[in-house]
Amino acid sequence: MKKLVTLVLFLFILTSTNVVAFANSTPKIPVLLYHVVTQNPSGTYQFSLTDFKNDMAYLKKNGYTPLSLNQYYNILNGTVTAPSRPVLLTFDDSTSDFYTNVYPVLKQYNFKATQFAVTDWLDTNGHLTRAQLQMLSANGIDIANHTIKHQPLTSDWNTQYSAINNANIKLKSITNNAANSVAYPYGNYNSTTMSVLKNLGCQGGFTVSGGLSSSNSNKYELPRIIMANGDSVSVFARKLTTGY
Ligand SMILES: [Zn+2]
Repeated sequence: MKKLVTLVLFLFILTSTNVVAFANSTPKIPVLLYHVVTQNPSGTYQFSLTDFKNDMAYLKKNGYTPLSLNQYYNILNGTVTAPSRPVLLTFDDSTSDFYTNVYPVLKQYNFKATQFAVTDWLDTNGHLTRAQLQMLSANGIDIANHTIKHQPLTSDWNTQYSAINNANIKLKSITNNAANSVAYPYGNYNSTTMSVLKNLGCQGGFTVSGGLSSSNSNKYELPRIIMANGDSVSVFARKLTTGY
């Protein structure tokens, strides 16, 4: 018995030492959020395709490494060493410009990215089709969950559970991969949301709060930085380093 206690204690110390060692070397990771990317953007949340191309060229030129979702979580969890200047590129709302405008630029640089899809919007006017989602998923784009109808996640457990779980089921049936991560529509969520995600075994939930993520971040309140219409490359550079 004494031997067992010693062994358990030894393993515990070994594990916690490793966790601390990795945690110290975990970088702060910016998670960028784009919506519609188009030649003629209107409103705050649409983004110019020219500016987007400049942003991606900036990442390439300055040695940034856009991550897959799994790489992102593994770095935060300290199970893999971060590459040079890690960044997570995310896109919300599964609009069709992602396929026609964004994906070709990502492909040009071989950049990984995540698309948070609203499942009831698929195959409707101005949105991605199931076939496009499938093709994107097979080509290095992570497809994740932005609920079934883009509803704010502030209601009761059952409503939130079905909004998230039904989207997970539909996305898995399309891409054959578990969506596993949720972007909260409008950035709205509450303690019920986080509890639902935990219950469904989701790896993380993303807000729109701004700031950088690190090993200390709550996995269900991962901060994202909104890219807004008219943001210059210098604003982009500032957001990458400060999170705001
Ligand atoms: Zn949205």
